[in-house]
Amino acid sequence: MSEEEARKAFQEIRWADTKGEPVCPRCACMAVYGYKTRPLFKCKGCDHQFSVTSGTIFASRKLPVSTYLLAIAIFVNAAKGHSALQLSRDLDCQYKTAYVMAHKIREALASEQQDMTMEGTVEVDGAYFGGHLKPANWKENRIDRRLAKNQNGKRRVVVIMRERGGRTLPFVFKTEGESVPTIEARVHPNAIIHADEAVHWDRLHMFYLTKRINHQESYSDGDACTNQAESFFSRLRRAEIGTHHHIAGPYLEAYAAEIAWREDHRRVSNGEQFLIATNAALAHPVSRQWKGYWQKGR
Ligand SMILES: [Zn+2]
Repeated sequence: MSEEEARKAFQEIRWADTKGEPVCPRCACMAVYGYKTRPLFKCKGCDHQFSVTSGTIFASRKLPVSTYLLAIAIFVNAAKGHSALQLSRDLDCQYKTAYVMAHKIREALASEQQDMTMEGTVEVDGAYFGGHLKPANWKENRIDRRLAKNQNGKRRVVVIMRERGGRTLPFVFKTEGESVPTIEARVHPNAIIHADEAVHWDRLHMFYLTKRINHQESYSDGDACTNQAESFFSRLRRAEIGTHHHIAGPYLEAYAAEIAWREDHRRVSNGEQFLIATNAALAHPVSRQWKGYWQKGR
């Protein structure tokens, strides 16, 4: 795709309502000048000068527009996620650039989940990530890594709420039990919850009709199961082991949200996934977290 075609494609996605005709992002005015020599627009109403990516998550970009289109296409096609190192090789750009670009795409995709609530049948489950301690070399120096006093405090649990035939909503906590208030806030009181035998889910019975499955006995007893939640964790675990190798720490929630998006759109064609992701990126405002990330002295 030539740069001009790529810009045209971006325009058509960002300003779909006006069939690709630019609209001023500052005052929503449609009377806009174009320039012959530069790919910029100027608003007749407020004199604001803008490009096709101004005011979106890709604002202040330095690479050609076609690179961003390619980045989104590569990103959505990777079922288990795509590492920044690999993306930098695909796009022939620096690792730091690819790292921030991938996180911006993740942030835009996660915006779908911001105010999402669940109803109907909802599966709830948690899985632990991070905080790995390497066992000591000599057997006599090894410690019991299961004990809290011997852990490094970095282990976190991703708790998932998954609507049957609907959407997926992940959150990160220190312990599974801490997630109950969030579940209460996000799941409609009329919903039926399916959870496993872990004791901290007992509290869910106070708020919901809750069905329990004892995983020591079976994964599905014909009445209760959390297999949909498990398949989310399977994909997240594959992203951890196969792609990123390390997804714990401050960005665990971002990776979990990305995998939830992938699970929810797994039956949608690649072309449609690409359109949804590009749309999300162009509808998402400038990222407070990722704008100028490497200039903040990291
Ligand atoms: Zn304007």
